[in-house]
Amino acid sequence: MADSKTKKCAHPSCTCQTEHKYCSTYCEEHADTAEITCRCGHAGCRAEAV
Ligand SMILES: [Zn+2]
Ligand SMILES: [Zn+2]
Ligand SMILES: [Zn+2]
Repeated sequence: MADSKTKKCAHPSCTCQTEHKYCSTYCEEHADTAEITCRCGHAGCRAEAV
């Protein structure tokens, strides 16, 4: 929380930290979709889908 360079991905269901608004193109394209789980595919994100 000390480093202001990174922040949570703007996707509501994503838990990634990123220097950009979104951690991936997936999140950017699905930012308006109210999904329960994010599928950006990054380790550490709550993506549990296969
Ligand atoms: Zn994610
Ligand atoms: Zn994301
Ligand atoms: Zn991610």
